[in-house]
This record gives sequence, structure tokens and C-alpha cells, in this order.
Amino acid sequence: MSVYNFNSGPSILPQPVLEEASRAILDFNGTGLSILEIGHRTPMFQDVLQEAISSVKKLMELDDSYEVLFLHGGATTQFMQVPMNLLDADETAAYCDNGIWGKKASKEASLFGNVNVVADTSDRNHTYIQKQFTVPADAKYLHITTNNTVEGTEWHQYPDISVPLIGDMSSDIFSRPVDFKKFSLVYAGAQKNMGAAGVNLVVVKKDVLGKIKRPIPTIMNYQKHIEAGSLMNTPPVFAVYTSMLTLRWILAEGGLAEMEKRTIAKSDLLYSTIDSLPVFEARVAKEDRSQMNAVFFLANPELETPFLDLCKKEGMVGVKGYRTVGGVRVSMYNALPISSVQVFCDLMKDFAFRKG
Ligand SMILES: *Cc1c(COP(=O)(O)O)cnc(C)c1O
Repeated sequence: MSVYNFNSGPSILPQPVLEEASRAILDFNGTGLSILEIGHRTPMFQDVLQEAISSVKKLMELDDSYEVLFLHGGATTQFMQVPMNLLDADETAAYCDNGIWGKKASKEASLFGNVNVVADTSDRNHTYIQKQFTVPADAKYLHITTNNTVEGTEWHQYPDISVPLIGDMSSDIFSRPVDFKKFSLVYAGAQKNMGAAGVNLVVVKKDVLGKIKRPIPTIMNYQKHIEAGSLMNTPPVFAVYTSMLTLRWILAEGGLAEMEKRTIAKSDLLYSTIDSLPVFEARVAKEDRSQMNAVFFLANPELETPFLDLCKKEGMVGVKGYRTVGGVRVSMYNALPISSVQVFCDLMKDFAFRKG
């Protein structure tokens, strides 16, 4: 039976990336060594890391005022590492609480300084993005989650503010061209749209660093990682390698403009199908819908289990909604072919025909 991978993360990767990575496990570039066996300070891995860094800079169109780091840990580590590096105990940072990940980020920040939650969409179950809010002029930065993986909302236009903007882009990075220069720091766990779990991409504008009094443990210190070229200690070699292959694939396919075309085609197909079938109900405000993670419900909650059972039977993997949200979640990351979305939509229509 065919399997259709709609997992929210770790999630689907491009087939050529998986094939190349499996070859490299046995014999990396004809060296007779596995990628798992090479030293991280060898020229072989230097080439991998340098290609990964230059691919990120190319895709983001950033100049040398930014540094690209590949660091250990998932995005959750960045919830702590961002305020540890940027926020002193007597300072305030602004956070948008648009969902579970943003809330976790602000909670971690409150361990290091003052947190001002300037936007909070919990009044409507995080089914929209609040765009009108005030950021105090003395805030050290504003933190947003660019795509709310769990709730299915996405910022389609970033706020214009006078303080540094920080984005958790874990689940929509490289899905479309965006103005990365608007951000002073972006981070993303690799396992949603960029590679294997275990590595974080952190892109930081150097001018925000070095401005706090707190001593920072070396392994948590962005400046020290910059000085060490992401090689302060052993990086997650295989995860960096997988990210490099995925970045190479994105560039070869036509870059972010091409990713956006596919993203729009897939999400338009899915949302128009949901909207056309009264059996299903999307609660997220239309203008704020995520193009990566579509979250929706069965209008009759009693049909949820039968629908999810049918999905399972037909090989649709990872479509059950997040445990605190329920319903259905369909993730459409870069590597997901539109044919998978088509098969899913056909299944929805078939279900609606029989149960509607
Ligand atoms: C998945 C996710 C996280 C958590 O990532 P980990 O790598 O598991 O720490 C954080 N933020 C967003 C937006 C996510 O989608």
C-alpha cells in the first residue's frame, strides 16, 4: 500500500536527499568512510558545513552582517538561548503568544528577564494572528512564531516595529521567499522543513550581540559559536549533512520562489476542498491560514474517529490533530508532492459523499 506522509515533524524529506544520505552512511563521497565516522574538523566535513552555510545565505539573501550557525538541540533550546544571549535581568522583551510554541518561548524568557506579552490570541483558541499591538520602545526585542505548527496559523506579513524582530521559523522556513532582513535573529529546528532532528539553524545579525551584562555559558554563547564557526564542539554531523542536502535540493529545484509556487498550489487545493465540503470545518481566520499545517475539524465531532480511521486505512500518516487541539492536521512541507494532497482531498470528498 502507498504511504502518504503528512507528519508534522519530524516530517517528509525529499527522496533524493534520503537516497544520498543513505549512500553516505555506507560510503561518504567515495572515501570508504561513513559520514558517521568522519571527524568534524576534517576538510570533508568542513565542505559540508560551508555548503550548508552558504546555501542558507543564498536562500535568505543575507550579507555578512548576519552569521549562520548550526547548533545542537531543537527549537526548544532556542527558547532559552535567545533570552540568555539578548536579555538582561532588568530588561524587557516583547512576545506574541499566538499558540503553544510562542507561549513556551515566553515562559523560558521570563527566567532571564521581564516578559511583556504584547499579543495574545488565546481568547479565540489561537485561530487568528493578532496584527494590531504595541511594542514598548524600550523592549529589547519582539519574538514571534512565524508559523504556528499546532494551531495552523501563519504570519503572512511581518510586523513593522522599531525593536529587533526575532522569529521562530521552525515550521515554515524556506517554504517561500520572505524578507529575512526584517529579522535580527531567526531560528528553526531542522526536522520540519530542512532535515533530520538534532540540529538548529540560527541566523543572527551580529549587531544584537554583546550587549548584556550576564555571563553566558560558553556552549550557549552565540558570539563564541560564531568565533568557532559552529565547531566549538562536535556538531551533530549527520543532521548538518542532511540539512545541507535538503538546502542543495531546494536550490536545485528553483529556490524559494519555486517552493512558494508549490506551497500555494498544495494549500489552495486542500483549503478549497475543505471549504467546499460542509462535513469539514476550518476555524482559522482565512487570511491567517497556515500554508504548511492545515488544522481543521469534522463539523460533527462524532465523525472524527471514523474519518481518522479511514485515513489510517488508506495510508495517510500523521493527520491526527495535536493532542490539545484535536481534529485533523495536514502538514504540507516542501518535500510533500501535490499528488499526496490530491489523494487526501479525494479521500475527503469520498468520505463527505458517504457521510454528508
Ligand atoms: C516543532 C516546533 C518547535 C519545537 O521544536 P523542537 O525541535 O522539538 O524543540 C518549536 N517551535 C515551532 C514553531 C515548532 O514547530
